[in-house]
Amino acid sequence: MSQNRFSAALALCAALIAAAIAQQSKPGDLGFTDTPMLPGLPWHVHDPARPHPKVVTPGETPGAPPSDAIVLFDGKDLSQWTQMGRGADAGKMVDARWKVGSGYFEVAGGTGNLLTREKFGDCQLHVEWASPAVVRGTSQGRGNSGVLLMSRYEIQVLDAYNNPTYADGQASAIYGQWPPLANPARKPGEWNTYDILFEAPSFDGEKLLRPAYVTVIYNGVMVHHHKELMGPMIYRQVAHYTPHESEEPLMLQDHNGDLVRYRNIWIRRPASYDQPEAQK
Ligand code: MG
Repeated sequence: MSQNRFSAALALCAALIAAAIAQQSKPGDLGFTDTPMLPGLPWHVHDPARPHPKVVTPGETPGAPPSDAIVLFDGKDLSQWTQMGRGADAGKMVDARWKVGSGYFEVAGGTGNLLTREKFGDCQLHVEWASPAVVRGTSQGRGNSGVLLMSRYEIQVLDAYNNPTYADGQASAIYGQWPPLANPARKPGEWNTYDILFEAPSFDGEKLLRPAYVTVIYNGVMVHHHKELMGPMIYRQVAHYTPHESEEPLMLQDHNGDLVRYRNIWIRRPASYDQPEAQK
């Protein structure tokens, strides 16, 4: 190809690309109504009337809460949490008694499980946790805690670094049901992350209409993908659903006082598609 022909071809390419970009983004062109309808939807392809999603400001660093998250622990206090009283306070909900350290909190053995004051159903949940740096115990007795969605559907927390145990009980397992698809555990004392997408079950009276589903990313690794749950967490038995409210507290487990730590916990209620803009 001669130099002139090559230059002409380049110019033609540039013109075609510019035309394609202009086609997609003419000034003032915010969509089309002469395009086909999307199957089963009231919208044309590129419909200018289709509602836009709300603006969310992302966290400044990976793992930091976005602007619409409910921050359940920001490193300072447990004001978002409560727990069942014991002893003289038995039967009452009391202020959370787990120990707050510098930017984290830790199970206070024997005080019981932590519950959020607010209730949640469908959610996106970010949790960071660390098993004790000093290794004690074996199998289920080593750094055991748990993230219990709706106070009953457990994503296991356990020291899973060179710690043999049953597969459906290791860290990030849907406890007693499904082992994780991989084991990306960090060493004892190091911080792990769970990013959990949870779809609550629904009931019509006593009848289960739709089971719960969960997706879990553990230290950046997918370990469950839209996995159906058989029912609530239960030990040495097959789980069965029993009806409950559409929102219930999130729970963190005190498992025999294992000194598991947590930090940076936040949760979002997912939006649904095509919500009218005024209702966002
Ligand atoms: Mg547990």
